[in-house]
Amino acid sequence: MLPRAELDVQAAVAAVQPVCDDVRSRGAEAVREHTARFDGVDLPTTLVPREALTGALARLDPAVAAALREAARRARLVHEAQVPRESVTYVADGSSVTERYVPVARAGVYVPGGLVAYPSSVVMNVIPAQAAGVSQIAVASPPQQANGGLPHPSVLAACELLGITEVHAAGGAQAIAMLGYGTRDCEAVDTITGPGNVYVAAAKRLLRGVVSTDAEAGPTEVAIVADGSADPAFAAADLIAQAEHDPLAACLLITTDPGLADRVDTELTRQLATTRHAGRVKEALTGQSACVLVDDVDAALAVADAWAPEHLEIQADGADDLASRVRNAGAIFVGPYAPVSLGDYLAGSNHVLPTGGTARHSGGLSVLTFLRGIHVVNCTAAALADVAPHIDALGGAEDLAAHVKAVRVRVPAAGEASGAGDAGRTRETGGTRDAGEAGEAGEVAGARSVPPLRHDLVGRAPYGAPQIDVPARLNTNENPFPPSAALVREIGEAAATAAAALNRYPDRDAVALRRDLAAYLGHGLTASQVWAANGSNEIIQQLLQAFGGPGRTALGFEPSYSMHPIIAQTTSTRWISGSRETDFGIDPDRALATVADVRPDVVFLTSPNNPTGTAVPLAVIEQVCTAAPGMVVVDEAYAEFARDRQATALTLLPRFPRLVVVRTMSKAFALAGARVGYLAADQGVVDALQIVRLPYHLSALTQAAARAALAHAGELLTAVSAIRAGRDELTDWLRARGLSVADSDANFVMFGTFAGRRAVWQALVDRGVLIREVGPPGWLRVTIGAPREMESFRTALEAVLS
Ligand code: PMP
Repeated sequence: MLPRAELDVQAAVAAVQPVCDDVRSRGAEAVREHTARFDGVDLPTTLVPREALTGALARLDPAVAAALREAARRARLVHEAQVPRESVTYVADGSSVTERYVPVARAGVYVPGGLVAYPSSVVMNVIPAQAAGVSQIAVASPPQQANGGLPHPSVLAACELLGITEVHAAGGAQAIAMLGYGTRDCEAVDTITGPGNVYVAAAKRLLRGVVSTDAEAGPTEVAIVADGSADPAFAAADLIAQAEHDPLAACLLITTDPGLADRVDTELTRQLATTRHAGRVKEALTGQSACVLVDDVDAALAVADAWAPEHLEIQADGADDLASRVRNAGAIFVGPYAPVSLGDYLAGSNHVLPTGGTARHSGGLSVLTFLRGIHVVNCTAAALADVAPHIDALGGAEDLAAHVKAVRVRVPAAGEASGAGDAGRTRETGGTRDAGEAGEAGEVAGARSVPPLRHDLVGRAPYGAPQIDVPARLNTNENPFPPSAALVREIGEAAATAAAALNRYPDRDAVALRRDLAAYLGHGLTASQVWAANGSNEIIQQLLQAFGGPGRTALGFEPSYSMHPIIAQTTSTRWISGSRETDFGIDPDRALATVADVRPDVVFLTSPNNPTGTAVPLAVIEQVCTAAPGMVVVDEAYAEFARDRQATALTLLPRFPRLVVVRTMSKAFALAGARVGYLAADQGVVDALQIVRLPYHLSALTQAAARAALAHAGELLTAVSAIRAGRDELTDWLRARGLSVADSDANFVMFGTFAGRRAVWQALVDRGVLIREVGPPGWLRVTIGAPREMESFRTALEAVLS
């Protein structure tokens, strides 16, 4: 018999049942009363105000804050890697099962209070939920009289640090019932995790079925498998560290070497003399703890497997190999330098682990606690027909005739009429054939094979602004002036030179082009701070591949460039939409509050903005750069059209190494067809992008064309001033007709508002003018075209308005 303390949760169930029932029937009022009774504070609401969270973090010891940040970073890496990949299995032609993992919508995390509160518990429970993609996480922790009825400040600080904004001051069984049943202040959750005392465990046991919960945690435990090579001081320190948690902690030393057992004993006596919590440590070590002497390592592993410890340390020769043979343990700590204390805080592994021998059948807290696997079944008519005889047989054997019928109504057996509603179906396949379809043998209409597309992309339409061949195309913000004859000739010559070497890959670093771009941008930039790709769309994709991705979040202020959220989605980056003011500007206070709330890995600021045309003041960009925890991407696709061209975010680059300024040659340079976008940023950013860029992504022809166009920058920018003048003229013209026009710093204007903008758009198309139906309801966007196109637009619009 190996020692282990037992925890009688069942006995506590009777005690907590009335509390849970009360919260279930009376909600917030019941929580308030039980809180007053158990915690001695009267709280009109359980919700902890946001200032208390920010204040707690501000007051947290900076060393502790830094440690929590690093712990969270490591745990996030580990738990994001845990998220299972969706898998599609084709069981037969036309018949597949997709395993999809979907997070619960709302999770509740309980964090015990008491004399010592464990902010590390917040990290260990919240990070897996966040990594799983849970969108709402509510934390509950007992209110403390000493803290003005708020939970322990270190818990509040940890919540703030992890971006948790919903924290409830509630403890014990009433907190679990609040999370499970919901109250006025706290919407019911789907899953509850987090440690707690026996009453918390009992309440979770009661709520099981209403919500899912993590495993019941009993007293903590460690087993150390050690041979003669183990350092007795390390082993003794780890036994004491475990015993420090709880007088009921179980600590086992399993060793092949009686000499080591003696040496560890001596060490224990020596270290116990100075240990801080000597009382509970001694109680644990003299209670349910032991040293087990075994003949060899095989026997040591057999003992460990039988005991199935929460934590297993292996301090023996060939520790890696021994670890690979372990079957039952919550977590395994391999070798002399991976103590359990590392796992408690900073290994990145989870410290919520199965106790009491439950490691035989369960694992620790993970993203799986917050995910559900859903089987998605797809089957074509032909594949159903193929397998139908087996369903006939099994349905027959189980005497479930309606089961058989549900299949046969779709794919009747040969020679069988399928009943009503099957007119027009071909009997052999059960499929519906379109009249006139070629219909090769065995082909079934509607059975076009469905490729196993990522589930989050299913139903998405490809990007496609309507392209209609009309005389005035003012819909995609192109430059209306084609390259001059001289530039066309030079691009041709440059392309011919490049063509002569097309058997070779291009310069994959596009160094010459980047040097030219840096020279064009000025601001002291060099090629190493500039990066180029196929359009700024590809630049944005590379940025999100490198700095976004699964588990990460991007924030933009909408309405804005529609590709930002689309590229976020295709790179599996969570997209959060911040809002703009009624004049389409960005209010700095609201923007900073959103940044603090969302803690985005990437912030997008489009300036001048598409589709509104409005520029973001440099001071606002600067404030966002100061506040944002991650990258700030300023999309300056239309920078050259701005009224104040000095106010570019390029000027901020020296101060903000996480700032990226994105530009394009599609607009001002009249080079949309060549697909050249670029960015300027700190060299570290450019280096990071090399990791995600495809080799030789920018063709030699593209590089040649771009360099030729850059050599003509002066001439091209003259056309830009004509477009600017055209824009201002059009703005005045539209306003003179009583229309609203957003202040534009771009080569387009957004105007409105129309009760039926669709009809206006269509009426313009009918008159040979194509503009764009984008922006907030009622608004339309028109690109500044050549003078003749603008004339057509004005004539057409006058006709439509009158
Ligand atoms: N950013 C913004 C704000 C845009 O409006 C556009 C194109 N309309 C782009 C980037 C992408 O341009 P490109 O890929 O042609 O460089």
